[in-house]
Amino acid sequence: MRILISDVVSLLKDGSSQGGHRVDIGVEKGEILFIEEHISWDSEKRQHQGPWDRIIDGCGRLVLPGFVNAHTHLGMTLLRGYGDDLPLMTWLQEKMWPVEEQLTPEDVYWSALLAVAEMIKGGVTTCADMYFHMEAVAEAAAESGIRAFLSRGIQDAAGSGLQGLGEAVRFCRQWQGAADGRITTAIGPHAPYTCSPELLQRTAAWAAQLEVPIHIHVAETTAEVEEIAARYGTTPLGMLAANGILDLPVTAAHCVHMEEADILLAAEKDVRIAHCPTSNLKLGSGIAPVPKMLGAGLAIGLGTDSAASNNRLDLWQEMRTASLLHKGSNEDPTVVPATTALKMATDFGAKALHLEKVGQLLPGWKADLILVDTDGLHWQPASDLTGRVVYAGERADVSMVMVDGRILYEDGSLLTIDEEKVSCEVEKRAQRLGLLPSN
Ligand SMILES: [Zn+2]
Repeated sequence: MRILISDVVSLLKDGSSQGGHRVDIGVEKGEILFIEEHISWDSEKRQHQGPWDRIIDGCGRLVLPGFVNAHTHLGMTLLRGYGDDLPLMTWLQEKMWPVEEQLTPEDVYWSALLAVAEMIKGGVTTCADMYFHMEAVAEAAAESGIRAFLSRGIQDAAGSGLQGLGEAVRFCRQWQGAADGRITTAIGPHAPYTCSPELLQRTAAWAAQLEVPIHIHVAETTAEVEEIAARYGTTPLGMLAANGILDLPVTAAHCVHMEEADILLAAEKDVRIAHCPTSNLKLGSGIAPVPKMLGAGLAIGLGTDSAASNNRLDLWQEMRTASLLHKGSNEDPTVVPATTALKMATDFGAKALHLEKVGQLLPGWKADLILVDTDGLHWQPASDLTGRVVYAGERADVSMVMVDGRILYEDGSLLTIDEEKVSCEVEKRAQRLGLLPSN
């Protein structure tokens, strides 16, 4: 399908600023054909580039690259609001893990579809997942049209590590490049404190053989840092380096407690980071040294983490929180400026997931983009545009979402997901699992 988005406002090429400029965007075969200064669509040049299957009048709307949610657990959306206000280990061991043991593939499928529906409506075009029953997640991603970086999570608890690794390998083989290339895969060893050195070494060997990245939680809490120091006499990142993980492309979620040496090591090994500011705040995990890591040249995307620890899957919120959090904690309003926060939600997020030609609006790149209505009162007056996106915009402003050249959401309607059915299925399953208050 060939689509022309005519007369839409775009940020300037350097990602800044001012009032934006008016462009036309041609889309064909899942890619951006051109992005050029706006000219009338019935002019000779545009006619020559036609015929168009559809012309979208973008007048008054802003176009942005779609947001990338660089770390989440889609299957946990079912557990939203279950076990709020608890410390990480209590929350995991007493609330999450016992329920997760009861989840069926169908539960995970509907949970993932709920997550994807919420994300698409909020302008997320790519998500990274780490969980189990991943075939169900992959089905949901494939059907919905979203771009997804999927990993089967593995850990050593109850001796299940090698079995999990076997499933992770099979999952990569089956799904790598599926859904017209929208699905890419990784292996997801849960964390340095839940995976033995042996399991990590085997994982690294398989990831190298399959040529897929590693998706892992790293240095999320002080307790993890202390446990790894006591067990191995090193930091969580040092432990991963010692077991060969950092010799592969890595997406490291959190990286909250990073020493100077860890930041240097991450930069040397080109570790890509998924910063999850809301989840780190809600679970009381701490504040990641993002300005320092950005200064070291690290690619840092933004993740929501699961809906059980956030509780939104909202990249507008993460972008704003990331910017505000580091300004406040560093007592410096110049750190993580709006242009950087927006890049973290888009371009850097795609880099964090090792994706090619995703995250920017450029000819030949993937047509993953969103249109945003900017006529709401909170967008007025027409001051610096990037600043308004990051500090004033919200997900309800998203009016159209396109992934791989296909429109998934337009003017309030999801085109690939039955929203009502998803809500109904999820409610039913939450009831069965005893996740809802009994009254
Ligand atoms: Zn996580």
